Amino acid sequence: MKLYPLFADIAGRRVLVVGGGAVAARKVAALCAARACVRVGAPALSEDLRALAQRGEIDYRAGSFDTTWLDDAWLVVAATDDIETNRHVARAAQKRRLFVNVVDDAALSSFHVPAIIDRSPLIFAISTGGAAPMLGRWLRERLEVFIDHTVGTMAALLERKRPVIVARHRDLGARRKFYERLLDGRLWNWLRADDAIGAEREFNRVLQKEHSSNAGSVALVGAGPGDPGLLTLRALRVLNEADVILYDRLVSPQIIELARRDAARIEVGKASGDDHDATQNRIHALMLDHARKGSRVVRLKGGDPFVFGRGGEELEFLRAHDMAFEVVPGITAAVACAAYAGVPLTHRDHAQSVHFVTAHCKNSMDTLDWRALAQERQTLAIYMGVAQLATLRERLIAHGRSAQTPFALIENGSTSRQRVVAGTLDELHRLAISHEVKSPALLIVGEVASLAHTLAWFGDAPLGSRPVDLAA
Ligand code: SAH
Repeated sequence: MKLYPLFADIAGRRVLVVGGGAVAARKVAALCAARACVRVGAPALSEDLRALAQRGEIDYRAGSFDTTWLDDAWLVVAATDDIETNRHVARAAQKRRLFVNVVDDAALSSFHVPAIIDRSPLIFAISTGGAAPMLGRWLRERLEVFIDHTVGTMAALLERKRPVIVARHRDLGARRKFYERLLDGRLWNWLRADDAIGAEREFNRVLQKEHSSNAGSVALVGAGPGDPGLLTLRALRVLNEADVILYDRLVSPQIIELARRDAARIEVGKASGDDHDATQNRIHALMLDHARKGSRVVRLKGGDPFVFGRGGEELEFLRAHDMAFEVVPGITAAVACAAYAGVPLTHRDHAQSVHFVTAHCKNSMDTLDWRALAQERQTLAIYMGVAQLATLRERLIAHGRSAQTPFALIENGSTSRQRVVAGTLDELHRLAISHEVKSPALLIVGEVASLAHTLAWFGDAPLGSRPVDLAA
């Protein structure tokens, strides 16, 4: 180990920063955040530093470096753009046995400033020992994404609760088990919701329990439309903690790959032709069995779990069996396909509302309010409609929608296989057949759909007929 890591308490201690520019200002801000008494020495100050000096928040020494600036300092930072000055400061500081950091110069520095992830009171510091500071920064950005913001709140809570924890569990072994139970448990959910009362109640519940009940849980997670980049950070974290993943056919393999390496992966997708209710019952049983054995189960669904995904039923089942759950929303197909096809679902000039509709089978088509759906200046986002395009076209026109209404049909939206077929309602069925559109595809009907021709940005330009002029 080339450097010895340490966290320094500089509150109320004098720190000298030599330099008055933007880099110095950044260093000063960080030092002030740690409540150091900062002295800044430089011939001139940047605007922010001048403001700090005027408010008396820093002690300003004007002029070129003078060794008396080092008096009563504990730490020194050289942040000028003049190498000679930096060298001079470094030498003078070393002579007085003061730790000195010269910005971007590992050789002259006796301490380095790490890249940090701040979840106060928790701080993660990354150092490459001066080998490659950019690599440290790059790594910091990636880790930032994985570290939940509530770890800081958890740390503060554990600090506050330490006396009661020690009183309850005097024995070190018991205490360690308690901490494991607490940290593997559901307290995080209350912290995340910023619910102090709920968190307190959960904390006390775990504190009073003798043994771990080994309680598992289920997270109902939306995987988005396919592009792994559209997964939420929360979904990614839950996937990283999963023991068992029950996923649908529509979830893309790249997303499954993001999950914890040793998680069990079970496909539970429904194919057309399956007995859907039997499959659904099997999913319910699998979720419950695995969670009862103590596993953290992720039930992973395409898009959003509450949009045409039977997510509601799965939660009702879990509630009825007293199993803990949480829900992580996902980007639903309508929102993603519209975005990736350049179709704004609403538009001040063309559509004031948007309807999410499923056209799963003849039965569900009969229960829809066609008069309302056929109104102008609104957008229909129709799921599971590929097999029903002829009926959809016929009913919308029969209930008054113009045959010239634009549509965009998006197949495999947001993935590398995305195709968009666009045209007018009249030609919907014919165009879909001639381009052999297959499920999964999302149908957008409404004035906004013609913008697919002008706003396309992802993949190939729309197939199908020429745009209709919206202004006409
Ligand atoms: N819960 C999902 C929808 C499940 S229903 C969601 O919120 O998106 C399945 C239907 O969603 C498909 O038949 C298709 O209409 C649509 N769909 C899902 N992913 C899609 C994709 N990548 N491209 C186009 N349509 C998609």
